[in-house]
Amino acid sequence: MWYMNEERELLRKTFRDYAVKRVRPLGQEMENEEIHAKSREALLEMGKLGMFTLPVAEKFGGTGPDYISWALLLEEIGRESATFGFLTLLRQVFNGPMQAACSPEQIEKFVKPAVNGEILIGLAGNEPAGGNNLFEYQTRAVRDGNDWVINGSKVLVTQADEVDYFMVLALTRDQVDFATMAGIDMFFVPTSDPGFKVGHIEHKVGLNGSRTGSVYFNNCRVPDSCRMPNPMALLMLFGPELSGYAAIALGGAEAMIEKTADYLKNRIQMGHSLWEMHQATRHDLAKLKMDIYNFRNAVYGHMANRNAGIHDTLEAGALKAATGPLLEKVASECMMLMGGTGVIHETGIERYYRDAKALEIACFSDKTFVDNVANSL
Ligand SMILES: Cc1cc2nc3c(=O)[nH]c(=O)nc-3n(C[C@H](O)[C@H](O)[C@H](O)COP(=O)(O)OP(=O)(O)OC[C@H]3O[C@@H](n4cnc5c(N)ncnc54)[C@H](O)[C@@H]3O)c2cc1C
Repeated sequence: MWYMNEERELLRKTFRDYAVKRVRPLGQEMENEEIHAKSREALLEMGKLGMFTLPVAEKFGGTGPDYISWALLLEEIGRESATFGFLTLLRQVFNGPMQAACSPEQIEKFVKPAVNGEILIGLAGNEPAGGNNLFEYQTRAVRDGNDWVINGSKVLVTQADEVDYFMVLALTRDQVDFATMAGIDMFFVPTSDPGFKVGHIEHKVGLNGSRTGSVYFNNCRVPDSCRMPNPMALLMLFGPELSGYAAIALGGAEAMIEKTADYLKNRIQMGHSLWEMHQATRHDLAKLKMDIYNFRNAVYGHMANRNAGIHDTLEAGALKAATGPLLEKVASECMMLMGGTGVIHETGIERYYRDAKALEIACFSDKTFVDNVANSL
């Protein structure tokens, strides 16, 4: 493909070897809640191996922003496990925008250790009442001397009981200024704080390797140095960075096509493979592959633009909105083509079928991105 060169081929191979060796066995195992702690262990390992440094500038502990290499990593991880792809994406989505939002001290204390696999940081934004609507948040942070005291709750939080810190969005004024967003702040809160509690862990349709649940902040106390000076930078950059989700989906879709082709070629009926006997099945799969081919160009075209310094948020949103439907379509049709075998856990296809929907919503529901495009018309 046009975006590959010798160096990137080497990187892809390194990522694939790691994904096959480490992520493949975890992908199925992580479906079982009792062993979820392995995702923390494995993510810290990935950080130590330098896999979270890709889109992060050198002065923040990274290797420089190469979005194509980043997409290659997400694609290879996504081939083996959507859950693990999502957790990998979150690390980088948090690390990247944090560069613009944090103070120099916070870069040293939070960003660099997060980039290098020493700590895990999560985002606690979504609330029971207002969802992602910041203006309806009820979590409050009140100044007390040099500290802030935080009270409130968040729902549908990824890795609710697996991270060392949450970046918590909270109101710091009675009236939020809609134009400047003054009055909404973001704090690093350690999960070791005695006031931090994990609530109910949800049973979800997919992404079951990641524990999604409620978290509570009861009089959590943090120094002012834990308040981000520029939280809006993080919020503005966060959404478009989720375009990395398209690369995870690309990996998953390619893997499903390969598994299905393999199944059809080896499933013998009356002395012939289904592949040989039924042109319709070959064409169904070929059409999916053509969709993926076009999608691949869109994903890597977007990443090449990012490398060239072009950060088109509408393009990122369009990519995000195209991803879910394509992934669902590939998963659904591959399951159909594999017949009864397609619904069995071990094939991994039914897992992708379930993960596709959870992944699509976890990376923010498409409607918000569509709204942005509508507003630009
Ligand atoms: C598996 C999973 C993991 C998650 N992890 C985290 C996490 O780690 N941290 C975190 O903070 N959140 C997390 N979330 C929450 C996630 O970001 C939200 O669920 C998602 O953005 C949709 O918001 P909502 O559930 O509040 O839906 P609602 O706000 O109830 O929205 C319902 C529908 O209305 C649409 N809508 C709402 N507002 C607008 C708007 N302004 N313009 C256009 N359409 C709109 C939505 O797109 C959606 O389709 C996670 C969710 C899932 C499913």
